[in-house]
Amino acid sequence: MSHSVSINLSSPTGNFWIDNGLVTLYCEFGEGDYDSDYILEKLTEKLVLKTGGKTKYFDQKKKEIVEYEKVNWKYPTNQFIRVSGKSDEKVEIDGETYPTQPPVFDLNLSLSKTPGVCDICGTKAPVTDAKMWIFPFIVEPSKFGNFYSGSKQGFKFCARCALAGLAGYIGWLWKVQRKGQGKAQRSVLHFFIFHSDLRTMERLHREVFVPLRIEGDKSGNTPRLPFWGLYIHETTLGLLLSLFSYISDPQDVPEETNKCLVSLFKVDSMSFLPPQPITLYAVTGIMGQHFFMKLKEFTKLHFVYRIYEKWVNELERKEINNPPQQIAWIFRQFVSRQENKKEETLWRDKIAWAILHFTDPFPFLETFIFDVRAKENPTKPLVMGTLDMFNVYLREVLDMDEQFQRTLAGFGYALGKAAKEHSEMGLLYALRNAKKPEEFYRVLNDAQFRLEMTIPEALLRIEKGERISGVPWVRVKTLLAIYAMNSYLRENAKQEKDSATSEKEE
Ligand SMILES: [Zn+2]
Repeated sequence: MSHSVSINLSSPTGNFWIDNGLVTLYCEFGEGDYDSDYILEKLTEKLVLKTGGKTKYFDQKKKEIVEYEKVNWKYPTNQFIRVSGKSDEKVEIDGETYPTQPPVFDLNLSLSKTPGVCDICGTKAPVTDAKMWIFPFIVEPSKFGNFYSGSKQGFKFCARCALAGLAGYIGWLWKVQRKGQGKAQRSVLHFFIFHSDLRTMERLHREVFVPLRIEGDKSGNTPRLPFWGLYIHETTLGLLLSLFSYISDPQDVPEETNKCLVSLFKVDSMSFLPPQPITLYAVTGIMGQHFFMKLKEFTKLHFVYRIYEKWVNELERKEINNPPQQIAWIFRQFVSRQENKKEETLWRDKIAWAILHFTDPFPFLETFIFDVRAKENPTKPLVMGTLDMFNVYLREVLDMDEQFQRTLAGFGYALGKAAKEHSEMGLLYALRNAKKPEEFYRVLNDAQFRLEMTIPEALLRIEKGERISGVPWVRVKTLLAIYAMNSYLRENAKQEKDSATSEKEE
């Protein structure tokens, strides 16, 4: 039974998936009233694709076997739209069974005859039971708990919300990362939806996603990402950095793309208006396993951009070329190589998690430099600009006093250099492993005697609450350990390079 649905941007539902679909419907069809069957047919055409394979059916009129190209739901929507193609009756010819027509991929709204209440928009209208092809967050009614635990009986959708739900698969951004090898290989799917008022989202789709989205790539349709991986925070940060880079370096994009991104993320310091709220929903799951999903919500995107802008300024000040690219390289380094040469990106995900939540990334950085970088062969210091960037974060987000930070960095640099000269790498590990202020001071004492170092006075004042110059002692320890180890690794790399050159000369 067909039904008239109204497509417009004036009635948001508040549900990020459905709102995203309403915007997609608007972009695909334009404002107006449409027949629901027509919309369903057009959306299906967009979501069904030739697979590249061929097979045969028996044409009853021509009385012959005809070859046709196989089609299926587009990857990765086929993870959610499990409706298989219908192919009427089958016939047997020379011992082989053939369908009498190519399968038809046909979705049906199956709206109720009597009106019900739509669980999404509250309208009283004929409704249908939610299925995964309408709403990806449904696995099966008993597994509802994952997201919307209040609705164990299942969701009811009106025709408009159901069609918007299906259109959501056209308007989403997704990225796939393969995991494991051989038979154990699975794919991790991340997908992203920005949510704001419908007009803002429509502009974002038209001016940003249409020009930047990659189509026809098996690994995703997001704008080009500087890095991504198995985990959601690293991939989310990769997506945000990609969008931000078009603000600071607008060369390769249309002017309206740049303007739209500026209006979304950059807060005008002259304006007294609060920024337009925009939320990013990031969802991740492993394909083929009931798609058990994790959903993350990021709201303070303006703050993330503000930090990004300060990073760009700092790298420019340090005369580092192409800051957006350098920032990407800095994040790309946080991987460890495993025995099978695969990259493990867990550290990058943890650091990205801390940044997206405006919390402390330094303990992860400390573990990375001590347990990954210092153990590689050959060892390498952190990528140029890493500490400059993280020092900005330290001051801006963790409120560290700039003078004290400089003192720590200076002392850490000297400590690492002296440790290298005296071959005292163990001392740096002892510093990293200090669990109490007393242990920390014991290591500093050792450094004083064994490396003949003078400890800056600011470090010696321990205050109430185990703080040093107002900073929790453990953060002071962590920062010092990072600065010192990086300086040690830099000296090491320098020496190795020198000895390699002199060997060549000999
Ligand atoms: Zn509805």
